[in-house]
Amino acid sequence: MGEKLERLKEHIGKVTDLQFAAAVLSWDQEVYMPENAVGPRSAQLATLSSMAHELFTSDTTAAMLEAAEAEVAGMDYDSDDASQVRVTRRIFDERTKIPTELVERESKATSEAFVAWRKAREADTYATFQPHLSELVDIQVEKAGYLGYEDHPYDALLNQFETGMKTAQVEALFNDLRTGLVPLVHEIAAQPPVDDSFLEEGKYDQQRQWDFTLLLLHDMGYDFTRGRQDKAPHPFTIEFGNSDVRVTTRLFDNRPQSAIFSTVHEGGHALYEMGSPDRFERTALAGGSTLGLHESQSRLWENQVARSLPFWRYYFPILRAFFPAQLQGISLEQFHRAINKVEPSLIRVEADEVTYNLHIFVRFELEKDLITGALKVADVPDAWNAKYEEYLGITPPNNALGCLQDIHWSHGTIGYFPTYSLGNLMSAQIYDMAREQIPGLEKGYTRGEFAPLLSWLREHVHSHGSKFTAPELMQREFGQTISAQPLLTYLREKYTTLYGL
Ligand code: ZN
Repeated sequence: MGEKLERLKEHIGKVTDLQFAAAVLSWDQEVYMPENAVGPRSAQLATLSSMAHELFTSDTTAAMLEAAEAEVAGMDYDSDDASQVRVTRRIFDERTKIPTELVERESKATSEAFVAWRKAREADTYATFQPHLSELVDIQVEKAGYLGYEDHPYDALLNQFETGMKTAQVEALFNDLRTGLVPLVHEIAAQPPVDDSFLEEGKYDQQRQWDFTLLLLHDMGYDFTRGRQDKAPHPFTIEFGNSDVRVTTRLFDNRPQSAIFSTVHEGGHALYEMGSPDRFERTALAGGSTLGLHESQSRLWENQVARSLPFWRYYFPILRAFFPAQLQGISLEQFHRAINKVEPSLIRVEADEVTYNLHIFVRFELEKDLITGALKVADVPDAWNAKYEEYLGITPPNNALGCLQDIHWSHGTIGYFPTYSLGNLMSAQIYDMAREQIPGLEKGYTRGEFAPLLSWLREHVHSHGSKFTAPELMQREFGQTISAQPLLTYLREKYTTLYGL
């Protein structure tokens, strides 16, 4: 490696240290911090974040980047060195294109909007949130202008979360997916409902649930010498480099599947981060790539693996040993049907894997129209409800269960939602390849063996860190573009069997 690139990497290493130090404070805030520490903690976080931002967007970085660019000119696109410079440049341009004045205005508007959103959701008064949402949408439109785009202003916002994807591509993928999904949802809805009362109405000791989730994490290959699990109201994964990747889960007395799938989901995110190579540490290439790719990893473990019958052939007897009274007389097949129950519902985060993407379509379509001005902020509740009726056949009885349910818009985050569905699409594509290439993959689950899957994912996905965008990685590793068909085929096959369609 050249001397100029070496200097750039040392510099970026310091920025990364500041960011991870701030991340440790955020983790603590979510998990352990006493309530009254909010004020000083916000100040500590703001100080560290702005130091990291200033250092990163400084003239020093600009000069170092230019020097390193000259040094790696002509190198192979896939090489570590060229990728270091390319990815650092992309992030640098993104951060420096937006004027500080707008960043500050957004930060202020967001803090106020978040408080207003929480109150509006509690009291079910959209009108009090509306002016805040208007302001945030205006800021996002302005931001799109600074970030720049060729075809659609939404492209600029989407690119912050899913580099390399365009609105038109997402529209085409979602059209394909919707065309296949809507009839499947209707066919399932016409079947007798699945009985999951032993889960929904049961009482499951939380300590035992906790112990079971730790067992799952361990078996997946999660390394407890480089991470830990804690409890949090909204489960998440957070990393401070590849040697400290922490997950959270949440426990309820009933619905033990909530903790189980939340742990496996976050575990999938964590394995991706833990699998990022040591040589990328403290650089722009460390950790997982786009949000869509990240979600492909969590969803693959959660749905394709942990909601499968082979998986529960091994774990159901173990779970029954944890909860003999609650699961007495319940067969493996009954349990498997219950954890895969499909039911159109109002809340995205509780949706099953068949209806989940319909929730995303609603948000994506409304966001696009908000950004172009085709939809007025005042008309969001009506538009939201009409789309829920159209796609899911249900209408929210109020806005708290409708357009006020997600935290994203209160953070001014527009362009993020599509990454959830892109992740679902890629999870099916990647899993198909794994099944093709790993002999006896699912047979191994019946013995609690996941090491072949993990090492395959390490090789094809994790080992690249964030070197490639999602379309690049899918092309290089699997010779594929992102497509809806594998997910549709997987869902159609699985639910035809489960529901006897
Ligand atoms: Zn996730």
